[in-house]
This record gives sequence, C-alpha cells and structure tokens, in this order.
Amino acid sequence: MLLLLLAGCSGQHEDVHETRFMMGTLVEFTVSDCDKQEAQKAIARASRAMARIEQRFTIYGDGDNAVKRFNRTPVGTAVTLPKDVAQLLMLARKVQRASDGAFDPALGALNRLWGFSREPAPTRPPAKAQIRAAKHAPGCLIHTRKGQWLRRSDNCQLDFGGIAKGYALDRGIAALKRAGIRNAIINAGGDMRIIGSHHGKPWRIGIRHPRKSGQVLGYLALNGPMSIVTSGDYERFFIYQGRRYHHILDPASGMPAHKAQSATVLHPSASVADAWSTALFVLGPKGLARLQQLRMPALVVDTQGALHMNAAMRALFHPMR
Ligand code: AMP
Ligand code: MG
Repeated sequence: MLLLLLAGCSGQHEDVHETRFMMGTLVEFTVSDCDKQEAQKAIARASRAMARIEQRFTIYGDGDNAVKRFNRTPVGTAVTLPKDVAQLLMLARKVQRASDGAFDPALGALNRLWGFSREPAPTRPPAKAQIRAAKHAPGCLIHTRKGQWLRRSDNCQLDFGGIAKGYALDRGIAALKRAGIRNAIINAGGDMRIIGSHHGKPWRIGIRHPRKSGQVLGYLALNGPMSIVTSGDYERFFIYQGRRYHHILDPASGMPAHKAQSATVLHPSASVADAWSTALFVLGPKGLARLQQLRMPALVVDTQGALHMNAAMRALFHPMR
C-alpha cells in the first residue's frame, strides 16, 4: 500500500527541480507531487521536445530548417510550409492583425540588422539608411488561397523570435503531461507555463522588476493551466551615447520600441502569451485595453517606471510592499 502511494505521480513527494540551458536562457523545470525518477524521465523528454522546437524555428546558427529555407526562396515563389510552422505563423498573423501590426513575424531582416541575437552582441545602432532598407512594406508576406506562403520582397523574412519560446513551453508542458505529470512549472528565463497546483495550493509567480535585478513588482497566485510571459528592454540591449537600444522593435519605425520597460501577459497558451507580450511591449500602456477586450490579464511598466494594468490583471496582482 505504502509503495503504491509512493510510486507514480500521486501522493506526497518533494518537488523535483532540473535546469537546462537552451533557447539562449536557463530553463528550470519544477515537478510537484511525483516520484523523482518518473519526474526526471518526463523532464528529459520535455527538454528534448523544447530543444527540437528551437532548432525548427530559429533563423540563427548553422543548422538548416524550413524557416531558413523559406527566407532563402526567391521573391514571389509560393511555398508550402510544414504544418507546425504554418500553424504558428497563422497564430502570429492573428496577433499581428489584432495588435494593429505591433507584432510582426516577418521582421527577420530588421532583427538581423540590429543583431541582438548575434555573438558578439552589437554595441552601436545601424545606420538610418540600412534600417530603411531592412524595413519591409506592410503586407509583404502573402498567404495564398491554396494555403501556400510567399514573400513579396527580399527583406520580408520570417522570424519567430517573439513567439517560439512560448511555443516551446507549450510543447514542453505537453510532453510532461503525456508522461503523466499533472503539477509542474517550466520557467524559461522568466517566461513560464504552469499546470496544476503546488501541493494543493496555487503556484506563486513573481513578476520581475525591469530595473531592480532580483526584485519583483508583485506576485500572482495561480492554478494551471496558465502561462505568464514578459517582454523587457533589459533582456538584450546596449547603451550607446547614453541611450538604451534593445531587441524589441517597432515595425513602424524599424527602431527599438520606446513605450515600455516591460510588458507581461497571461494566457493558458504560452504561444499566445508570448506573442502578445511582445506586441504589448510595442504598444505600451494603451495596448492594455485591447488585452482587456480579449480577456487577457496584462501589465506594462512604462518608460518612467510607472506600473499600469488592466482590470483582469488587477483582480490577480498582489503588489510588493
Ligand atoms: P520577446 O522577448 O518575446 O518579446 O521577443 C523578442 C524577439 O522577437 C526579438 O529578439 C526578435 O527576434 C523578435 N521581435 C522583435 N520585435 C518584434 C516585433 N515587433 N514583432 C515580432 N517579433 C519581434
Ligand atoms: Mg514574445
């Protein structure tokens, strides 16, 4: 009887923690109420699933994938994208439309020019003429009636950097669930998806202060399934002539967006939360109303450091005193 209680994912167990480095960040897995060996096996599967997503969607590094191939196809050539890529692109386009273009999955040429995902990291902004040349016209990416995709200009390049980490979190959690896990968190550098609860209580999630490292603005007590994703200007940036330049670009100007220090969005799907956190960062505080209409709790720290949230977030947020 005792053995039955101890094996598997039920009954009282210590939390199991594992960390892996991927997607350019430390990914922490926490599995609750599960036998240690089973939890570790499940985490190994989940991290393999997440590493595959990274390889499949990245436009950086040496390996090849369908996204890079699409970005190399001659302008005007219709391409059938693999199902998973096409599906994530459809979601990205939905957020693009709903955010009035603040989220843009075809920003690859501009992102590459700024170079925040490059090693070594850049130290000064590109020239204005280069930015103008890398900016694509609106509607450069076409979805044909046959369901194929084509690029209308060469600087129209897919980049899933604003959504793929969320998608990897979704796939990681799906792998944990397939392995029988019911209560867990995967935390990818502050972006997380949770399932279930923590020993019968809600998970306690801190929201990072964008300027005070190691401090939180407040916390949320949440039961899964839920994802909490933050976009911030402190993640990848450089200071040049006293100004901060960071990796989240305003598609309208081709420059780093300048209406927020950080933006946090909650949604059960981490892909959705990820795309919207990037969009909300670009939109700034005025984007909160849109997220309220969509029933997504959200908050923004503006450039002055003031905290703004929508009603859905206010109902959940416990400020730090
Ligand atoms: P995140 O940290 O999720 O906000 O994503 C930032 C990453 O998304 C950048 O490193 C770029 O690869 C990409 N990105 C930057 N600006 C945008 C944008 N306006 N829309 C979509 N993706 C973007
Ligand atoms: Mg994002």
